[in-house]
Amino acid sequence: MSIDILIVDDSITIRAMTKKALALSISDLGQVYEAENGILALARLAEKKVDLIITDLNMPRMDGLQLIEKIKRQPNLADIPIIVVSTDGSTERLSELEHQGIRGYLRKPFRPEQLKEILSEILETTYDHQTHNTDVGDF
Ligand SMILES: [Mg+2]
Repeated sequence: MSIDILIVDDSITIRAMTKKALALSISDLGQVYEAENGILALARLAEKKVDLIITDLNMPRMDGLQLIEKIKRQPNLADIPIIVVSTDGSTERLSELEHQGIRGYLRKPFRPEQLKEILSEILETTYDHQTHNTDVGDF
């Protein structure tokens, strides 16, 4: 199966970097959608079905925590695995995310290899899907 992914981040640079890391990590990557805040992410999710969501926390208009809360309350979206990518890695924040069923956390800036590691764990357990097993190296 091909894996469709939504990247949510207000930084165009981070979105581009994440997209590149995804292309290196997933052999049959499908559509990669982008949204720059939670509101636009929800609009996108209302029209497109995705297999995975990668989201930032600090964003204007609707932040990552609000977005996650809304996703978890919608039965058709609640089971989509979510990876959080953020500079906020406080213990308090991490336990809050864990409590909300977040599947993975990456601290910015991250190496493609770290994203790949989290992806392979999630995709294998959720979709029985393998990631590339070659070393993608650093950017
Ligand atoms: Mg941000």
